[in-house]
Amino acid sequence: MINNSKDKAALTDWLGRELSYLRISLTDRCNFRCRYCYGSEADNCKADQLTDDELKIIIKSFSLLGFDKMRLTGGEPLLRHNIIDLVHYISSLPENKVVGLTTNGSLLKQKLEELIDAGLNRLNISLDSLDRDTFRKITGRDELSAVLEAVDEALRYDVFPWIKVNMVVMRGVNDNEISDFANWVLPRKLDLRFIEYMPTDKTDWGSERFLSEAKIRELIGIGLKRDGNISDVSGPAVRYVVDGYPGRISFISAMSHEFCRACNRIRLTSNGDLLGCLFQSESASLRDMVRNGNTAEGIARYISEIVQDKNMRNIPCDKGRDYRPTMYRVGG
Ligand code: SAM
Ligand code: SF4
Repeated sequence: MINNSKDKAALTDWLGRELSYLRISLTDRCNFRCRYCYGSEADNCKADQLTDDELKIIIKSFSLLGFDKMRLTGGEPLLRHNIIDLVHYISSLPENKVVGLTTNGSLLKQKLEELIDAGLNRLNISLDSLDRDTFRKITGRDELSAVLEAVDEALRYDVFPWIKVNMVVMRGVNDNEISDFANWVLPRKLDLRFIEYMPTDKTDWGSERFLSEAKIRELIGIGLKRDGNISDVSGPAVRYVVDGYPGRISFISAMSHEFCRACNRIRLTSNGDLLGCLFQSESASLRDMVRNGNTAEGIARYISEIVQDKNMRNIPCDKGRDYRPTMYRVGG
C-alpha cells in the first residue's frame, strides 16, 4: 500500500511493516573467494546483469516509493565500473538520505575519496581475520594489509557516523580471534559487528561452522554494556559499549534471534530480482519490468502491489525450511 503521509515510510507490506531501505547488489562477481560465501560451485549471471540505465530506473522507482536508504553490495560492489556515477545518482535523489557501501575493502583505499565526493555516507567493511594466514585461508587472497589500510584510510574522514567492521564468526576457523578483534576495535572509533555464520548455498563450509551469539559473548571476555544511544538503532544489530573506550561491539544474530517483524529492508540482485528477505526462495523480476519498457512510476506501482503478496515477504521465512541463500548474489 502506498502511504502519502510525509513522516512515514511510503510503502507498507502485507504485515504492515514500513519498507524504506533497499539493498542493491551491483554484481555477483567478486575478487575474493570466501569459503563461506563463494565456494567452488559458484557461478555468475553477468549476461543478465542490469545495465546502469536499467538500474537507475529501478532505483528511481524505490525513491518514488519513499525509500530513503540504499546500500550497495555484491559480490564485490567496487568491481562495478560506474559505481561512482551510481553513488552520485542515488545521493542526488530528493528522498535519499543514506547511501551505504558494504565491501571487502581490498579496492577501497584508492576509491574512497571519489566515493565520498559522490555522496557515500555509510561504510561497512568485511574483515574476518587479523591473521594473515587465516585471512588467506578464508578469502583465498593475500589482501589483509590492503583491507587494514582501507580501514585506517576511512577513519581519516568524518562523513561516516560509524565505520562498521563485519566479522563472520566461524567455529574452528576464526573463533580463536574473538577477543583479539574486541581488543583491536575498542581503542578505535569502529563498530565491530560479530555476525553469526549462516550456512549458504554453493559454499564449501556447512552448519558445523556455526557459533551462536551466546558462545561468542563468552569468548569476548570483556564486560559489555548495552549502548544507550538511540539515534542509530535501525536494523538487526544489537550494540554494546565498554566504559572508557571509543569503539563499540555489536551482534547480528540472524540464526539464534528473530528480528523479522521489525525488518524494513528489501533486496535487489544484480540481475534485477527483488527479494523480500535474505532467506527467501521466491523473487519477482524487476528486470523484466524495465526491459518491457515500464517507467519508474509503473515499476513503483508494481512493487507496491507485490509487497502485498505473502510469498514475497514470508514469515516464517524459508530459514525455517532449511533454505540456503546464495550470499554473493543477494548481497548479504
Ligand atoms: N563483498 C562484499 C563484502 O564481503 O563485504 C559485499 C558482499 S558480502 C555477500 C556481504 C556480507 O555478507 C559480508 O559482510 C559477508 O561477510 C556476509 N556474508 C557472506 N556469507 C555469509 C555467511 N555465510 N554468513 C554470514 N554472513 C555472510
Ligand atoms: Fe566476495 Fe564478499 Fe562473498 Fe567474500 S563475502 S566472496 S568478499 S561477496
